[in-house]
Amino acid sequence: MAKKYVYPVRNKKVSTGKGISNGVYFFGGQKADGNESMKNLLGGKGANLAQMAGHKDLRLPVPPGFTLTTEVCIYYYKNRKTYPKGLKEEAGKALERVEELMDRKFGDPQNPLLVSVRSGARRSMPGMMETVLNIGLTEKTIPGLIKQSGGNSRFVYDAYRRLIMMYSDVVMEKAAGIEPKDDVSGIRKQLEKLMNQMKKAKGYSSDTDLTAKDLKELCALFKAKIKEVLKKDFPDEPNEQLWGGIGAVFASWNGKRAISYRRIEGIPDEWGTAVTVQTMVFGNMGGGCATGVAFTRNPGNGENEFYGEYLINAQGEDVVAGIRTPAPINEYSKSEHNKDLVTLEKAMPKIYQELFGFQARLEKHYRDMQDIEFTIEKGRLFMLQCRVGKRNGPAAVRMAIDMLKEKLIKKEEAVMRLGPGQLDELLHPIIDPKIELAHKPLTKGLPAGPGGATGQIVFSAGDAVEWVKQGNKVILVREETNPEDVEGMRAASAILTARGGMTSHAALVARGWGKCCIVGCSGLHVDAIKKELLVDGKVLKEGDWITLNGTKGNVYEGKLPMMDASEENEILTNFLKICASLKRLGVRTNADTPEDARRGRQFGAEGIGLFRTEHMFYGKGSDEALFLLRKMIVSKTEDERKKALDELFPYVKKDFKGTLEAMDGLPVVIRLLDPPLHEFVPRDPDKLAQLAQDLDITLDELSSRAENLHESNPMMGHRGVRLGVTYPEVSAMQIRAVFEAAAELIQEGKSPYPEIMIPVVCEVKELNDQLVITKKVYQEVLSKYNIKKIKHMFGTMIEIPRASIVADKLAQVAEFFSFGTNDMTQMGFGFSRDDIGSFLPEYIKKGILPEDPFGTIDQEGIGELIKIGIQRGRKTAKDLEVGICGEHGGDPRSVEFCHRVDMDYVSCSPFRVPIAILAAAQAVLKEKKK
Ligand code: ADP
Ligand code: MG
Ligand code: MG
Repeated sequence: MAKKYVYPVRNKKVSTGKGISNGVYFFGGQKADGNESMKNLLGGKGANLAQMAGHKDLRLPVPPGFTLTTEVCIYYYKNRKTYPKGLKEEAGKALERVEELMDRKFGDPQNPLLVSVRSGARRSMPGMMETVLNIGLTEKTIPGLIKQSGGNSRFVYDAYRRLIMMYSDVVMEKAAGIEPKDDVSGIRKQLEKLMNQMKKAKGYSSDTDLTAKDLKELCALFKAKIKEVLKKDFPDEPNEQLWGGIGAVFASWNGKRAISYRRIEGIPDEWGTAVTVQTMVFGNMGGGCATGVAFTRNPGNGENEFYGEYLINAQGEDVVAGIRTPAPINEYSKSEHNKDLVTLEKAMPKIYQELFGFQARLEKHYRDMQDIEFTIEKGRLFMLQCRVGKRNGPAAVRMAIDMLKEKLIKKEEAVMRLGPGQLDELLHPIIDPKIELAHKPLTKGLPAGPGGATGQIVFSAGDAVEWVKQGNKVILVREETNPEDVEGMRAASAILTARGGMTSHAALVARGWGKCCIVGCSGLHVDAIKKELLVDGKVLKEGDWITLNGTKGNVYEGKLPMMDASEENEILTNFLKICASLKRLGVRTNADTPEDARRGRQFGAEGIGLFRTEHMFYGKGSDEALFLLRKMIVSKTEDERKKALDELFPYVKKDFKGTLEAMDGLPVVIRLLDPPLHEFVPRDPDKLAQLAQDLDITLDELSSRAENLHESNPMMGHRGVRLGVTYPEVSAMQIRAVFEAAAELIQEGKSPYPEIMIPVVCEVKELNDQLVITKKVYQEVLSKYNIKKIKHMFGTMIEIPRASIVADKLAQVAEFFSFGTNDMTQMGFGFSRDDIGSFLPEYIKKGILPEDPFGTIDQEGIGELIKIGIQRGRKTAKDLEVGICGEHGGDPRSVEFCHRVDMDYVSCSPFRVPIAILAAAQAVLKEKKK
């Protein structure tokens, strides 16, 4: 006779001694063998279940169970899918303890215990591996479960059909390595088809219309189909189901989608997954039952409000799968989409209060936002999972700042809470708000990932990957998201789905990546086969442009313009201030215009690390200056050239002045003209003719002069300091422009601080040559303006390997070094940056190089050259200022390297400044940890 269902059993004595093979960790009845710190062994899920169940501050109602460790998984793969000796016995013992706590027996016809078999790696891989529910339900145990449920045979047959569907799909097909030939021939799809046929035949509109009798019939049909398709019987023996399930979850570690997710996230293949076997609790037993997912704070914007969704009378998988629209747990969680559904707070006020208390305790305990899964079985609340919740960048910054204010964390922790990529998200574009106002959304959905995105519609993950490879920007539009889509989701600029809630898989993954995403857009009708989208009475086709506002959930037709959202973001500014207070490394910006300078400064840049003089000859409004420069370039005599330079001078001075003024009080490294001159020779016949006329020479003469400038390898040709050595008047003009601009600013009461930088230097005598010019011009400007001093420095770029080697000599003349790591990488490797496309991808694929050395500094080689340069330079001049101005200055790992080799500052484009500041602060904290 079945005993009464009791849980949790507080008075029962259960030993917590460890078993024999150490591959099994028990939890339940307020005790646990494991704890949160054992993620490597128990996986994130197993470790947190143990913590929730056993930690003295928590002891939450967690259905009892046990976890097989990741070591078992590793063993399993190494030993042709077998288990360590003694493991099965140990698992059997753990199962007995569960049975004892639950007063039920696995496989018992009278009073059966049912379990789930759940996956869980060290790091969460949402939806990428398998879970099988309702294990232990067989023809023999069905009557026992009916009895336990108080005679609810509909529930039991529904549970049985779910088991058959899940088990045949996960264990009998996927884990057995059977690849269905297309989308519709997988066993699960075939069973779904049978179910739909039955619903249609009976005139039902929803799954819930199916009666107990229908479901019983369906289970029989399912089994026959399985036999027909997979040529095997569905196992009706509880232990066979259990071990089949365990093996299948281990096998799912090497499933296709798990592998692609690991590749994207950089999770090592060797980690393996743990498996948790846990007592089933049922959110689908009828009234007073529900299941849900919630966050201790809003993961979309970071607000400190309990946020979540739930489904009445459903099993956990239904929420995540996005099959029904979930209801909000409270008023705060309401959206346009679900505002008419009853909240959990209203439907089950007591349970809601209990859940609210648990979430508060969990957050306090973990000191971070938690993502929790819960199930309510006949008015009893059970906690099924908790983990640190994924959040997008804006939410992450807000939570870090709030938790610091709440004294939940210290400022060091707040700084470590953000990934560089998350910060990057805050700097991402949004739809230009003025233009957005003028457009009516086609439709609305749930705002699952913030920011704006525009792209061309594609309907499959494969197409997304293909189109992006071809250089397109796409938005992946799906009926519902599916973990198999990860690569396409990654490639797409944004994701849009017709179904699913804020806690659906798509929303979760997009949030983790900080990708613009809208889910549950029920106004969309997606026909992936016809590659069409019906919305608002319109048909959109593959390749049509749409624009998403992921912050509001609005979908627009066409291509709306984007703009930058980072200005005047107070929370971001605050966060960066905290980072700045911890870092040692200076952060400057690369800027060629006063606007760039201002933006960088606003983000916290402490100066300009690279101002490129030549930039004034490119782009908008540069026509006049460019013309004069060309005139200078094709000048033949020194007189001709001097005349052209005189005309050019006011433009250059004005440009320098604007930037020095924007950076008032802060250092500005101004690099003298760097590129090979022939880059500026006009090719357009009209321009050539005009130039010839102005110079009063024939077109032929002009062509021949231009011809003379041609070089076979201009990157290593007549450029940088070599121009200054051969045409001293070119350097003199620029240096004069710097000093005069500074002198005028001084007279206007400002404090300019130029640092004159000579590029492409490999020999100290080159520097001496330019220093003589600098000193002479300096004196001339001082007397012209009648001032005593202009604060400035004279220094060099270190970008040729030889320069690093002779850095001790260079430092006799240079007051500062700035490592130009782009060219240093180019010349150090002998890789032309413009030509690496033909071989570098192959190098990376074959593992010859770990990554693109132009993206992250190659510490082994180029890094060594940098270290030599710094050491030798500082040996000569202890106070030598050292920085970096290559693009690496905005790459977090390169920033950490610069910190370690004791540079004074890094410099990067304005939008990378916040990331560099964060990386510089984190470098200090990581160093302390060691
Ligand atoms: P994932 O890692 O993909 O989230 P889970 O192991 O958390 O997979 O399981 C998926 C869903 O199945 C969960 O949302 C949970 O609600 C449900 N589930 C798992 N185990 C149980 C159980 N023992 N009782 C009730 N529901 C369960
Ligand atoms: Mg889960
Ligand atoms: Mg260079």
